[in-house]
Amino acid sequence: MNLGTCHDCSAVGAFVNGLCRDCIEARNEAFRKARAYFSSNRGATARRCSEETGVPISLITSWINEGRLRAAVDPADQDLDADAREQRRQAEMRKAFAEKLGQMPAAAPAPAPTSTPSRGMYRKERS
Ligand SMILES: [Zn+2]
Repeated sequence: MNLGTCHDCSAVGAFVNGLCRDCIEARNEAFRKARAYFSSNRGATARRCSEETGVPISLITSWINEGRLRAAVDPADQDLDADAREQRRQAEMRKAFAEKLGQMPAAAPAPAPTSTPSRGMYRKERS
């Protein structure tokens, strides 16, 4: 066990997953709240769940990413998801790169190999 500070409340101690016992309990409670909200509000978005339950949206979206919760997809919520943002950015870069490649003249064919086939230990022209 390593000493550390709690990710949520900065208490110092030996914690599993960087959270003190109180904060793990608080997160479990928040999870139960969010799960209860989604089960009685099917199709609700993470943002709406956060507004209604007071659970931080970052927690809700991480639970959704972990597959522990299911929420309706809201483009505004997706913006909060760093992974999705990074994937979109990479897709845009790939697209821009592909367009750039399309504007470039076709690459010249590779020159034919110029080496003379050798026979045995000596090149043909030396024999
Ligand atoms: Zn804590």
